[in-house]
Amino acid sequence: MDCLFCKIAAGEIPSTKVYEDDDVYAFLDINPHAPTHFLVIPKNHIDSAAEITSENSYVVAKIYEVIAKLAKELNLDDGYRVVTNIGEDGGQTVRHLHFHVLAGRLLAWPPG
Ligand code: 5GP
Ligand code: ZN
Repeated sequence: MDCLFCKIAAGEIPSTKVYEDDDVYAFLDINPHAPTHFLVIPKNHIDSAAEITSENSYVVAKIYEVIAKLAKELNLDDGYRVVTNIGEDGGQTVRHLHFHVLAGRLLAWPPG
């Protein structure tokens, strides 16, 4: 499958790795929207959070475990935001499930 984030997870396209295990890969966003901005993805392709099922939802739990661990390691003590965009109106530009982790400044709410 011709998927950018599958290729990044496989190491076929370079990225700045933040974390990796058998199921999960995390890397810096190429166009950061906050002083800290990384993406956490399942290595296996899932189109978006709209495609989470009882078969693949374990990886979402793993992703949130990884995020909590990284947030502690990176001392994101003032808080952070986890966002997953879904579909066109949700602002999803890469059709491989990913969780943005944003930190290091006060983030506006609600989003624009
Ligand atoms: P989305 O808009 O789908 O929620 O988020 C996709 C994110 O992927 C964007 O924040 C964008 O900057 C990031 N991105 C797109 N292409 C690349 C790439 O080749 N490398 C990295 N590290 N990030 C990318
Ligand atoms: Zn993919």
